[in-house]
Amino acid sequence: MKIKVSEIFYSIQGEGSQIGIPTVFVRLFGCNLRCQWCDTMYAVEGDDYSELSFSELIRKSLSYNCKNICITGGEPLTQEKAVTKITEYLIQEKKNIILETAGHLEPPKIFDNKNTVVSMDCKCPSSGMNHKSNISILRALKKKDQIKFVIANEDDYKFAIETIRRSNFKAQIIFQPEAKSSLLKLTEKILNDKLNVRVLPQLHKDLWGNEKGR
Ligand code: SF4
Repeated sequence: MKIKVSEIFYSIQGEGSQIGIPTVFVRLFGCNLRCQWCDTMYAVEGDDYSELSFSELIRKSLSYNCKNICITGGEPLTQEKAVTKITEYLIQEKKNIILETAGHLEPPKIFDNKNTVVSMDCKCPSSGMNHKSNISILRALKKKDQIKFVIANEDDYKFAIETIRRSNFKAQIIFQPEAKSSLLKLTEKILNDKLNVRVLPQLHKDLWGNEKGR
């Protein structure tokens, strides 16, 4: 099995409920969406990737001796068989696995495992891809998982509130400002509206901007 890999690196988790925790990132190459504000286009299209064997990928991922491993992209589930095999192996190695995925593809069964977290986007209108989100996949997520709304403007905010109201999600809900929009403004709106959601920045961007491999 050859796996298309954009990069593997060690950093802190910059988003979601594991924010701030040292983590190894396995960024797989390829995505079948095209979000307007995508910040990892180098992992979506072009030829900036390596083809690694399963054992090469595992060796590199374990070399950091880190408890937490995040499988991200691109859209990792465009290489679903590889994701399943990597996750099965790393769970046996007693790692905690986070899968970051866009919300249009169903995660494999292995992500029912309690040592995994699925961090799934529910795409808002500003992404241009909100018609691709699959609400039944998002509804099937468990309490251990999380649903992330990236909010760029008022339309996104209203869309997120309405989607939550209609959908009866079990997973934790996270609101994250799109990189160019204000965390303060979004936080104040959430407090004003008494929403029961978690608002979080993108910590890695505060620390390192858009630097690759961070
Ligand atoms: S789903 Fe993620 S990787 Fe794919 S285009 Fe959208 S933001 Fe980029």
